[in-house]
Amino acid sequence: MRIAVIGSGAMGSLFGGRLALAGHEVWLVDVNQPHIDAINRAGLRLDLDEGERVVTNVRAGVADAFAGPADLLIVFTKGYHTAAALAAARHLAGPGTWALTLQNGLGTGERVAAALPGAAVAIGMTDLPADLREPGHVASHGAGHVRLWSLSGAPDPALERIAAALGEARIAARADPEVVTAIWEKVIFNTVMNPVAALTRQTVGGMAAQPDGRALAEAILAEAFAVAAACGVAVDREHVRAIIEHAWAAHGPHQPSMLQDVLAGRPTEIDSIAGQLAEKGAAHGVATPVLDTLTRLVRMIARAG
Ligand code: NAD
Repeated sequence: MRIAVIGSGAMGSLFGGRLALAGHEVWLVDVNQPHIDAINRAGLRLDLDEGERVVTNVRAGVADAFAGPADLLIVFTKGYHTAAALAAARHLAGPGTWALTLQNGLGTGERVAAALPGAAVAIGMTDLPADLREPGHVASHGAGHVRLWSLSGAPDPALERIAAALGEARIAARADPEVVTAIWEKVIFNTVMNPVAALTRQTVGGMAAQPDGRALAEAILAEAFAVAAACGVAVDREHVRAIIEHAWAAHGPHQPSMLQDVLAGRPTEIDSIAGQLAEKGAAHGVATPVLDTLTRLVRMIARAG
């Protein structure tokens, strides 16, 4: 396959690098010039559980450096950069192109569809982790998987083909018509982990160690579960609780990404996560005072930072 990764930071480099190692033609599209130059100069360095790989059969560049169309676009910018990134990369999508977003948040697929009218869009979630260590160098340690399905909800053989290509690239993936539920479960997990950490500058373990942190988690869960129920999404509450408990026990020193963004003075994905839950609550008459407050506070410190 010819694959263009739109937003080739931590996750985009991991996916693009693994797909290139599996023999696909991969274009790493980004706007971070030092990262682009490092990849084109010395290859993409991936630190993986199986060891270090240097991927040399990839090209990196801004969208204009490539001539389309690609078979698959994988969108891995932060949510607030999707529209601009896809506007610049529109020439990489042709009549048979699928665009897959595995970005965190609700409404990511709708955003991709709005930016690429007529394109076939797949949505999904992944719990694989990745960090950009320095330009050209990405690390990913720990297990994870991908679930994906079409935004329209209709089955399509292309979904199985995309999942199979990811699997051959050592990214466990399955086509799953229940993906919307999985996306909501991850959004609720992120809404518990991220805003409180960003506001209090606490690690994952710091939140878990304090009764106030656990009480806030419960308050967030109560509102988020009520919104999901009002929207008709059958989230598995026990599963969400289990992944939160697992993160608290196993990833104590980790700084959630929203905390990293705030500390680095970058914008955050609050609007796609807690903000989306609060908006959907308002649309369905579900009061979400905790989600509203967290969203406003994170927006305020991100703007001030
Ligand atoms: P990142 O910041 O490392 O990568 C995003 C990349 O997009 C950057 O390299 C940036 O330069 C690039 N970009 C910005 N504007 C662009 C444009 N106009 N055109 C092309 N590229 C552009 O972010 P990430 O951690 O890889 O996260 C990407 C998405 O995946 C987010 O939605 C995040 O929530 C989600 N996610 C991240 C992880 C993780 O562990 N990092 C895990 C699961 C999901």
